[in-house]
Amino acid sequence: MAELAPTYRGRFAPSPTGPLHMGSLVAALASFLDARHHQGTWLVRIDDIDPPREQAGAARLILDSLQQHGLYWNETILWQSTRTAAYQQALTKLEAAGLLFHCDCTRATLGANGSCNGRCEPRQSSVSAPRALRVMVPPDTRIKFIDGIQGSCKYDLGNTIHDFVVQRKDKLPAYQLAAAVDDTHQKITHVVRGADLLDSTPRQLYLMDKLGSTSPHYAHIPVLLGNDGQKLSKQNHAPALAADKASVNLREALGFLNQPSPPQAAKTVTAIVDFAIRHWSIDRVLMADDTP
Ligand code: GLU
Repeated sequence: MAELAPTYRGRFAPSPTGPLHMGSLVAALASFLDARHHQGTWLVRIDDIDPPREQAGAARLILDSLQQHGLYWNETILWQSTRTAAYQQALTKLEAAGLLFHCDCTRATLGANGSCNGRCEPRQSSVSAPRALRVMVPPDTRIKFIDGIQGSCKYDLGNTIHDFVVQRKDKLPAYQLAAAVDDTHQKITHVVRGADLLDSTPRQLYLMDKLGSTSPHYAHIPVLLGNDGQKLSKQNHAPALAADKASVNLREALGFLNQPSPPQAAKTVTAIVDFAIRHWSIDRVLMADDTP
């Protein structure tokens, strides 16, 4: 096997809320092809930090499905459920920097964008259980990054998102914190994922900065919509991918990513994936607004 480029580490990080569907195959394939095209390492992380949303057996189904589609990962899988101590350490660090506050806002009292309504921070001693932990975001906080597909992205984080939750009321770590901590821990250099997560990126960059971590490059691929115009998701019962249709599924996902079609002579999953690795170009992926 060829030497892996030490400089590229990508990942696919599904939440085990249901089996892999066409939308998640597109995201997995894009991050896999970008990594392999650059002789990089491709990791799989299972984001199992939200038991109330998880479906028993889904992680296994996702992993089997990835392999059936020829998407083999390097290194051992990281399960977020084993990372509680690391998330706690990150919270301790943010706390020591004076950046956290308790918040007992309910859905009815939250401010715009799910931020705290501003009443909790000054009344810390009277904030009652159940309470979430939020990270403060000063009003002048602006986050800029160049997305590999969406181009220049600028967020006025301090005036739009404000503070955000890093530990939920049920004491589970929030996705933003867990993703920032684990992308750092796994030394991820390139995150390729769905554009539905684009507005999570400034929050994760903010946390990485406060935790003193180097941030990866990001590229957000357009999200595949169902016939009803909604994002395909496990919640709206997107159909699971059939293993005996893996070649067809891969061809469809490559078409959506605007990549060259593998020749008809490429009959096996391996032949299709090999062709796709060789011909991958992230520049061909359309911006979210340009997709039909
Ligand atoms: N676990 C998240 C999801 O399935 C994705 C995390 C990420 O790629 O950062 O939506």
